[in-house]
Amino acid sequence: MTSTLVFQFDIHGGSQQLLDTGQLEARRVVNEIFRLDDEGHDWETIKDEVVERSNHVKNTTQRLFDKATDALERYYDEDEYGHPRQNHDESFPIRMNHGEGYQLSVDEASERVSFRVTALKRNFVRGTLKSSPHDIERVKTALTDDNWRVGTAEVVRKRDRHELHVNVTHETAEVADKEHAKTFIGVDVNEDCVGLSAVTESGVEDSVVIEYPDIKKTRHEYFTVRKRMQSAGQTTLETEVQDEEQRFVHNQLHQVSRNIVEWAQQFEDPVIVFEDLKDMRDDINYGTRMNRRLHSLPFAQLQDFVSYKAAWQGIPSEKIDPEYTSQECVDCGHTTRSNRNGKRFQCVHCGFQDHADRKAALLICAKGLEKLNRNVPALNNPPFVRVRRHGNGLSEPADHDPVSSVRGYQTDGETGSVSD
Ligand SMILES: [Zn+2]
Repeated sequence: MTSTLVFQFDIHGGSQQLLDTGQLEARRVVNEIFRLDDEGHDWETIKDEVVERSNHVKNTTQRLFDKATDALERYYDEDEYGHPRQNHDESFPIRMNHGEGYQLSVDEASERVSFRVTALKRNFVRGTLKSSPHDIERVKTALTDDNWRVGTAEVVRKRDRHELHVNVTHETAEVADKEHAKTFIGVDVNEDCVGLSAVTESGVEDSVVIEYPDIKKTRHEYFTVRKRMQSAGQTTLETEVQDEEQRFVHNQLHQVSRNIVEWAQQFEDPVIVFEDLKDMRDDINYGTRMNRRLHSLPFAQLQDFVSYKAAWQGIPSEKIDPEYTSQECVDCGHTTRSNRNGKRFQCVHCGFQDHADRKAALLICAKGLEKLNRNVPALNNPPFVRVRRHGNGLSEPADHDPVSSVRGYQTDGETGSVSD
């Protein structure tokens, strides 16, 4: 399994201009390959010649040769396109091997990731990489863990700055084919909890709701603090506070996503099913700007963490249309906003009751089964809802019958505990 991580440069030695010069040389090399091919030279000769003349190190020139010949092969296979000739793109990427072409390392004192890019032979650009905590953590894992390999990277120009796109490969992870999945794991992500259900073609296997009230609470608190700083014009301080908040939320989401994947792993041939967040959720009131900002971030990030952690365990993911997952009854299909009241779902048509987020997770499973052309079993008699709390709460017996646990949810707040 290979993924591409994206970084910005914080340049300490060398310059942006040097990266530009390296890109122009990469473009020249590729254009030369196209021209020589057009003139009828064989590829082995072309390779020797361009390596000889290139101002890039040998490895980099070879990677550029591979890229150019890929394009040529596509042209010869499907000859509807014109022969690739001149490439005029000024932002042509430099493609490099880890080692000679570029080098990454973790600085133990600062915990930053240092880079050295060989922009041209004997011409280096050095500094540290910037990115989301997520991608920084992933590249650190790739550099230190034996199961990982850091592969080719490209220097890419994005408007006025450069980016480094690094391919990292997990040597063993092979993600199962979702067509062969047996257990559909519905994941309903909310601001304060995630509802999980495991459903096969023959019925509901299990379900759980994992609460993480600390994430919601912390985000609200930080939001208020940042607002105050904004009005006081303390922008530097605001950025610091924002970083602090992101680190906290990020760590929590990592732990929660690990719990979700562990839960999914106990079932036979699981596939994880999410709502497709590209479509706006129907059930959140986006009435105020505050609501929008509070709700926006963690959904996508948690899904992202879950799907790549799952992929490392060989578990595939699938996305479904999120429309009305919070309002539709799993028993009779009646769909209306008034079916839902906070964490309580009660169908106004047939009376079916459930914990709203567990029910949403069941419906996500049903949509996943449908999408992969499977039989959808009856979902109207699900097992007891178990509610676990992520974080430091005390352990409580966690099983309830669905109705009393929905009632109990608001009155006595009985919850179990889960920590990583
Ligand atoms: Zn109903």
